[in-house]
Parts: sequence; C-alpha cells; structure tokens
Amino acid sequence: MNCFGANLAYQKPRMKRVHQIRKPAQPHWVGDGFPVRNFLSYQEPEPFRPFLLLDYAAPHTFAPSTKARGVGPHPHRGFETVTIAYQGEVAHRDSAGHGGTIGPGDVQWMTAAAGVVHEEMHGERFTREGGTFEMVQLWVNLPARAKMQKPRYQDLKSAAIPVVALPGNAGQARVIAGTLLSATGPAHTVTPVGLWDVTLRAERPTTLPLTAGHTALLLVQRGAIVVAGADAVASNELAILQRDGSTLELCARGGDAQVLVMTGEPIDEPVVGHGPFVMNSWPEIRQAVDDFQSGRMGNLD
Ligand code: MN
Repeated sequence: MNCFGANLAYQKPRMKRVHQIRKPAQPHWVGDGFPVRNFLSYQEPEPFRPFLLLDYAAPHTFAPSTKARGVGPHPHRGFETVTIAYQGEVAHRDSAGHGGTIGPGDVQWMTAAAGVVHEEMHGERFTREGGTFEMVQLWVNLPARAKMQKPRYQDLKSAAIPVVALPGNAGQARVIAGTLLSATGPAHTVTPVGLWDVTLRAERPTTLPLTAGHTALLLVQRGAIVVAGADAVASNELAILQRDGSTLELCARGGDAQVLVMTGEPIDEPVVGHGPFVMNSWPEIRQAVDDFQSGRMGNLD
C-alpha cells in the first residue's frame, strides 16, 4: 500500500484537504525553560480559530541543575492554556490556588478565564536529573460569555486518557479531548475541541471522522505524512486543513509518524490580544492590564 492516491480526494468529496502548510519560526526561549518554535499567533486573522497560539518545544536536552528553569509569575485572561508534556516535567502554580506537576503523557488544561497569575517551571525531579524535554502549549480561545468566569485547572494524567485503535490497523490515538471513534477524552471544554495524539504505522492509510465546518490542525512531531492521498506534510510542519469535509485520511510515509490533531468549532467573535490577554475589545484589554497591575488577578508568593 502506498500513501499517495490511496483514496483519491476527488472520489471522496467529503475528505478534508490541506489549506496551508507552515514551517516553524526560529526557536525562541520562553523564560529559561522552554525552547519553543511558534506556529500560530492570535495577531493573525483566521483560519485557525478557536486556537490562538501554538508553541512546540521539540526534544531538547537539559543538564542536571539545582535551580528550576522555566518562566516566573505572569498573568493570563480570556482563554485557556493547554500544555502537553511528552518528555520531562512541567510544574504549574497559580493565584487561584491550583497547582500540579505533569510528566510524560500528562496534560494540564488551565482555564485562565477572568484571570490568574501563574508560573510554569520544570518539575523538581527533572531539574535535578536533567534529560530530554519535549512539550506542546496550545492556547484555546473562550467565547465572550466565558471570558470572565472563574479560573479552572484540570490535571489530566496519562492513565486517564483513553487510547483507541485506528481503522486499517494503522496505529492508535490518545484522546485527550473530544470524541474519536469509540473514545471520549477526559478534558472538559467550553466549546467543542478535539485534541488527539496520533501514532501512525508506516504506509497504512486510515480514515478518521471529523466535524464538517470545524477547524483542524495537524502538527507532525515525528516522521512524515500524506493527507487525503495527496498532500505531503513533513516533520516539524503544521498543516491547517480546509474547514469543509467530514473525514480525515492520514498515512505515515516512509516510516512511523506521530501527529497531534487539534480540532475545534470556530468562535466567530472579534479577537483582540495584547501579550498574555486575549479579549474581544481594546477597553477589555485595558481593563485586564489595570486589573493585573492592581493585583486583582491575585499574586503568587
Ligand atoms: Mn503562562
């Protein structure tokens, strides 16, 4: 079986095709703990709403240390930060009293909503022992009605994330959020969002159901894939799919592949962002800055 032309797209008009492929920006450091490459930023218009930002920290080796690396106290308002740890550990602490450490396979789903001040650091053990670090951080917008709700923190351990086999003996998916085939992820989301860690076996096409009209993004972390029997996406690239279509055909080309699939119902409201705040208007941004500076988002001591 070959990935190209396995199911010709014109024979299957419901199949999603690639709209745009993005290569990562040059790496930059978030604090001294997260060497990330940015793929999406809320300063751009469509076509990836409800997602606002995607940073990928590809595998990077850290030496053992006595001082935890990471990013110190900073605020967020108006959206959610979703962090997936693949290798290493991330520890979170926030002004709403939430905290936790996630390790390989775990996810933290932090709903900043009305506002938190938090810090994101390497975990204690990873700091002490060093090793390879790999992580994704995705920012998910909140609809206007939920932007000023109470903050929430979901600590989703790997053991609670169901794994589903893919059709065609093509591999498996960890379903963090949303429903894929027979599995529903543990994350509570405000609007419909799907987040799936997909591992594909070489040269085995598989077809997954998606919701027509929703945004779908594919981050290829390892290997190379072909979408819809036609569109090649390489390692370290992000594919933004067309919103039309209700099936996704993936095939790992030349070897196994790992892909993060992100789907979501677009939130069709104005996006006005400034640094760590994403609201619907400039007066709301000015209010966020003022609330943070006056300590109304709380403090970390
Ligand atoms: Mn943060």
